[in-house]
Formats: sequence, structure tokens, C-alpha cells
Amino acid sequence: MNAIVLEREVCAQNYAPLPIMLSHGEGVWLTDIAGVRRLDMMSGYSAVSLGHGHPRILKVLNEQAKRLAVTSRAFHTEPLGPFLAKLCAVAGQEMALPMNTGAEAVETAIKAARRWGHKVKGIADGQAEIIVAENNFHGRTTTIVGFSTDESYRDGFGPFAPGFVSVPFGDTAAVEAAITPNTAAILIEPIQGEAGIVLPPDGHLRALRALCDRNNVLLILDEIQSGLGRTGHWFAHQHEGVRPDGLIVGKALGGGVYPVSAFLASRAVMQLFGPGSHGSTFGGNALAAAIGHEALCVLEDEKLIERSAELGAYMKQRLSAMTAGLASEVRGRGLWVGVEIAPGAGDAKKIVARLADAGVLTKETHERTIRFAPPLTITQDELDWGLERCESVFAEQ
Ligand code: PLP
Repeated sequence: MNAIVLEREVCAQNYAPLPIMLSHGEGVWLTDIAGVRRLDMMSGYSAVSLGHGHPRILKVLNEQAKRLAVTSRAFHTEPLGPFLAKLCAVAGQEMALPMNTGAEAVETAIKAARRWGHKVKGIADGQAEIIVAENNFHGRTTTIVGFSTDESYRDGFGPFAPGFVSVPFGDTAAVEAAITPNTAAILIEPIQGEAGIVLPPDGHLRALRALCDRNNVLLILDEIQSGLGRTGHWFAHQHEGVRPDGLIVGKALGGGVYPVSAFLASRAVMQLFGPGSHGSTFGGNALAAAIGHEALCVLEDEKLIERSAELGAYMKQRLSAMTAGLASEVRGRGLWVGVEIAPGAGDAKKIVARLADAGVLTKETHERTIRFAPPLTITQDELDWGLERCESVFAEQ
């Protein structure tokens, strides 16, 4: 039986993949079973920022897996301390709680915010509120989809947890109006990824920082997709020079080979977690820690954050020029650009299929926006190769 047919028969159909069966990945290139090579311009929703099979990541993966992988955190293992020390250093935070997937790290942040709200701010237990943004995407657990504004994420999955208040993204006045004495935290993506790479107005994060300081509220940023160099800084919030009270990272932290995520915060917040209060069988295992540490070192040693800023500006400028008349907006930061197709000008899903035929793999989000997020290891020549293919596909529309 054809492998695609088999997959359709036995795998839940909660995704609608293009009919391409990939078999190899190397650097920025993905090769299918027929031997056709295409440029990866979505990087596994930004999880593969270091490219496929980065030699340093594979070396650490192999060496650490042979030595020691999963013990659970009932014991200490050598790689965890250095990994989290490095992560805290690049993020400007004091402590980290390691998890696996992004959604788990978001759940950790929610628990931290609620416990801080109760035990430090003095909010009655069970009454803490968290302000979130419309069109957010923070993952797929029932608590998280409960505060999504996308009906397709929620349909039939209730009942949902209370305690979340949703306001329009980027609207400082709406956030201010939503703050009550029971507000424990504001939780947002500094740039909304799944919503279509949507940036808030300039100064919004600084205004939120000031609001949080005035009202004794935690500012928690979900940088699972925007962090680790994707926007041309280590973290998107650094574009505005603010420091969040809680930071959530994942995706690229796993070097493109393993799920690694974390919630970071001050010692004062993190000490609210004592033994038994939270955990994960796999979170912070020796293999995850060794890979996470190496992923951070590769980003730094190969100057991939600087490359993201430089090549990203170039990619955005070229995509803007080639989609004039077709796109209503081309937006983004670093190697993370969304091309929003103007109403009536074309069908994003069909354009994505045409791009795949032409040798460029990407993905539409919310019907209208095509996202371009190649690995940060991409070279100028590789990027030019991809942009030339994009140019010919956009010219046909
Ligand atoms: N938060 C953000 C901003 C994301 O973009 C995602 C995934 O796309 C998540 C959380 C969820 O991460 P995961 O799929 O690893 O649970």
C-alpha cells in the first residue's frame, strides 16, 4: 500500500499535509521519496532554525544518547545545569523550568502566574485572571484552546477553564481596561505567529511593561515561535528593550531533532514551585538538556541571529517587491515574513501548492497569509534560489 494511503487510513486526520512524502533533510533542503529536492521555507513551524541534521546537533544527540538519555528528574544529570544556565543567560532570566512541548511550557507559565497571583499578590485561590490577546496561538491543551478565539480550535472540546480575559491584540487601552485587582498576568505572543506573523503597534510591549509595573501584574511572553533568533534578536521583546517577568521558549530549542521547551522567570516566581507541585517525566532529561545547550551554542557561534536580521530584511524587501499588486501586506521581522494575499487576488493555499511544485516548501496560515520562515542557517545563495522560484510563481497569479 502506498505510504500516503496507509497514513490516511491509520493516522488521525488532524492535519491536511501536501501530498509530498519527504525522506531526507539536509541543511535547508528537503528531499522526497522520488528524489525531488525542495527548499524548506517554513522550518517545521520554526522548530528547525538550525536546519535539518545540523552536524553539531547530531554529534551531541549521538554521544549523549549513547551515554545517558532519560532518567526522570528523580536524579540529577550533568547536562541540565549548564543548559539552563546558558538559557537563563541569553534570556536575561534567573531560573528555568524545563518541559518538552510548547503547550506544556505555556501550561507551566499559567500555573506560575496563578500561584504567584494567590501566594504573592494575595488574590483569593481560584480567582486569578490572566489577560490574553484575540487571535492568540499558545498550543492545543484544553486550557489553552479554551482561551483561543479561533472556533475551529475549540469546537466540541469544552468545558473550558475559566480565568482568561481576551482583548484585541496590540490594544494597550483594552488591556488597561481589562485589569482588575484579580489580574495575575498578561500572556501574549510579542508577535503573533499562527495568526499570520502579526506585529503589535510600536511601543505596545513597553506600554504593557509599564501597565504591569503599575498594577503589580506579571508580563509573560510566549516566544516559542518568535524567540531564539527568528526575528533578528535573541527574543522579539528585545526589539522594544523590555524584560518580561516570565518567558516561554520551545521549538528551535530542540535543535530540530527533539522536543525541548522551558518556562523562565525570576527566582521569586520560580521558587513558588516546590517538589510535587509540577513535573514531567521527560522534561529536562539529559538528552534534551545536551541538545538544548548545543542549539544555543550553535545559534551564538554561527552568528545566526545576526544573519536572521540581515537576510530577513533582504527577504522581506524582495517579497514585498515581487508581490506588489497581489499582497495587501508583507510584514515580519528577521527571517520570518508573512505575505497576506489581498482579498480576491489569489488563493493562499493554491499558491503554496504552486510554490511546492516550483521547489519551495512553505505553509499558509488562516487562508490568506503565506509564511516564509527558512532555517536561520540559510545562505544568501540558497535564499536567492528560493526567492527566484517565488518570484516566478507570484508572477503567474
Ligand atoms: N506558542 C506558540 C507561540 C506557538 O507558535 C506554538 C506552536 O506553534 C505553541 C505555543 C505550541 O507549541 P507546541 O506545538 O510545541 O505545543
